[in-house]
Amino acid sequence: MFMDKETALMPRYIYRCKECEGSFMTVHGITEDQDHCELCYSSGTIFRIPQMPSVKIMREEAGQLTREFIEDSKRTLEQHKKDLKKEEHDQ
Ligand SMILES: [Zn+2]
Repeated sequence: MFMDKETALMPRYIYRCKECEGSFMTVHGITEDQDHCELCYSSGTIFRIPQMPSVKIMREEAGQLTREFIEDSKRTLEQHKKDLKKEEHDQ
């Protein structure tokens, strides 16, 4: 149910509940705030767990590298195709 495009762009937050000692991840707008536990439905018992910024950066860098690699592979393939066509024309 969280797979629509708009939700995917929204920030994810991890909360921990003092009542049931469970933690859960939720998605909401940056200006909104979750006020109840999704596990035991207590309200006012949860607090947000700050996510490590370094983890986020590392993930983004990894994603960037993967994209660059894919783009590079595409370019190589395109060049290959061009070369093949050129050879056909030459014959
Ligand atoms: Zn709870």
